[in-house]
Amino acid sequence: FTFRFMNNILPVPQHSTKPGTSTGQQFWHSTDKTIDSYSPVDGSLIARVYTSTRADYDRVIETAQTAFQQWRNVPAPRRGEIVRQMGEQFRAYKNDLGRLVSFEMGKSLPEGLGEVQEIIDICDFAVGQSRQLYGLSMHSERPAHRMYEQWHPLGLVGIISAFNFPVAVWSWNAMLAWVCGDVCIWKPSEKTPLTALACQQIIQDVLRNNDLPEGVSCLVTGGREVGEWLARDPRVALVSATGSTRMGRAVGMAVAERMGRSLLELGGNNAIIVSPHADLDLAIPAIVFGAVGTAGQRCTTTRRLIVHESILADVRRRLASAYAQLHIGDPLEAGIHVGPLIDKDAVAGYQKAVDEIRASGGTFVVEPGTLSGPGYESGCYVKPCVANAQNEWPVVQRETFAPILYLIPYKTLDEAISLQNGVPQGLSSAIFTLNLREAEQFLSAAGSDCGIANVNIGTSGAEIGGAFGGEKETGGGRESGSDAWKAYMRRQTNTLNYGTTLPLAQGITFEL
Ligand code: NAD
Repeated sequence: FTFRFMNNILPVPQHSTKPGTSTGQQFWHSTDKTIDSYSPVDGSLIARVYTSTRADYDRVIETAQTAFQQWRNVPAPRRGEIVRQMGEQFRAYKNDLGRLVSFEMGKSLPEGLGEVQEIIDICDFAVGQSRQLYGLSMHSERPAHRMYEQWHPLGLVGIISAFNFPVAVWSWNAMLAWVCGDVCIWKPSEKTPLTALACQQIIQDVLRNNDLPEGVSCLVTGGREVGEWLARDPRVALVSATGSTRMGRAVGMAVAERMGRSLLELGGNNAIIVSPHADLDLAIPAIVFGAVGTAGQRCTTTRRLIVHESILADVRRRLASAYAQLHIGDPLEAGIHVGPLIDKDAVAGYQKAVDEIRASGGTFVVEPGTLSGPGYESGCYVKPCVANAQNEWPVVQRETFAPILYLIPYKTLDEAISLQNGVPQGLSSAIFTLNLREAEQFLSAAGSDCGIANVNIGTSGAEIGGAFGGEKETGGGRESGSDAWKAYMRRQTNTLNYGTTLPLAQGITFEL
């Protein structure tokens, strides 16, 4: 593999070791401790990245604090212009970065490119947002008084990201945080440090050409411990953490303990309801993409299929036929639908779930299995499978980050909605129906309890324009579009008296 930016900007010959701490244009390391990045595609070691020490971390935070003093005074539309230039850089490096995402993380090349396109899209969105950081004005109950609110930057924003969207999730947070006047410290997944370094390199010219101070865009690398530093650090105003519910619980508690703000984007257990009124020609491809895309390693992956009993046999037949057409292999090759899981631990998690399904009495419509032999040497490739299951089984209640789809029959729509809501997570949901009453019931206050509810499209593949996130154990955070920008700012209510008297609110009198 030769990536253009690897040769020109990020010189990463195979097995080289790169510093993983950065305040923007400067990169350094002060320890010999490294993270090894292995590609799940072929099992090769693609790079070593030096991890950040606590001293490195403190230097980053202090630099970010100084940068914030300057950055918060840059007019928001000017900050937007800088984000626009970053978007241009990502356009220029889309192919290279998309390939690296595929190679380091294992998702198919179209999905790797799609992830970079998401960065470009959120840059465009953030540029527009930079001129729309609106506050309201209110009528005061006191004469000659004016009330309004304004939004100010928060300060330092820590971004902890997961392996499965190694670059897009960072950009959802960082691009908005930057136009809002914050500075960012990114702690990427220890499973995908190279893509993070690449992003930091890609925006380096923009930081340099605009004479921005060190510290606007920071990177710290390492495992859970480095994430914990961010979570516990009172200097970090907001911690936006994406990952497992277990991680979110720990981060949420640590940030709450110090009265900081957190934005949590955690696990999902997403279902599609297939009604007897569904157009199955639409539903089947949506289900299969939702269940096997990114090898079942999306937070929005379709994990449960709640199917009306009258069409269950037909849906089983169609799924078996669709799954038979899937090509599993090197995600960088054309025509491959399913790449590898991230590592062998993930394969063990898949195998454990399969064993548990069997032990619970489940049977398979599409058989599971791990793949070996030529092309599968990394040991990370598994067969997407479909199991007949019951919603209340513990294995169905938890998120297994692998391409396992549970088939659950229903009789009435009320029952289907209650099954759909009957899990601890609340991220994404969908119904396939051409019946207006069913669709509206699903979307009503008594319908899906998820942050995302779709009709006649699947659970995965959200656009950046809407607010993204989920309820219950998914954490309650919202990122990306709509008014998600507000999470990165503090609201200030201002009352201004232009009169000559001092009337008090609620008619209270106070005389001296
Ligand atoms: P993970 O929880 O293992 O790790 C995520 C990040 O958190 C990593 O950077 C890790 O180093 C860090 N971390 C782990 N424990 C920590 C702690 N105690 N304190 C601070 N930081 C800590 O998750 P993963 O395996 O990388 O990703 C898969 C999970 O992410 C799935 O559950 C998936 O649903 C979820 N996810 C959710 C969304 C969403 O938007 N809701 C998006 C992508 C992924």
